[in-house]
Amino acid sequence: MDLRQRTLKFSHVEQQELVSRLLELPAHDFLEVLRAVFETRVPDVESRVEQKFFLGVASIKPKLTPDRLQLAFQESGIWLQAVPYVNWNADVANDYVVPEGFYEFGRCSTCQIDLISSQRKAICPVCGSNVPLT
Ligand SMILES: [Zn+2]
Repeated sequence: MDLRQRTLKFSHVEQQELVSRLLELPAHDFLEVLRAVFETRVPDVESRVEQKFFLGVASIKPKLTPDRLQLAFQESGIWLQAVPYVNWNADVANDYVVPEGFYEFGRCSTCQIDLISSQRKAICPVCGSNVPLT
């Protein structure tokens, strides 16, 4: 038994059931489940600095390399973007898109993290700012 198995509080079968259930969820429901977890759970409750979980997308070896992407990839060849939360307080009725693909981009003006989403009206998962995406 490896360390990972010893630290699990639930059985391997329970874990697989949870993973299967998450994989079956439509994209919208999957994102809302993760939002509920990530807005509540913190990586280290003992830390003196505020830490947050968030869903991210790592883009590796892009096929397109416009100037914006070249800057973002820098030397690592990997571009990390956070998936923001839908801003349900904004008027999303006309803009809401079922999240099957992430084609809206932007950068949080408060914490400067890059964001990627299916929605134009978003909330930064790191600092909570409202961020319009295009
Ligand atoms: Zn932010």
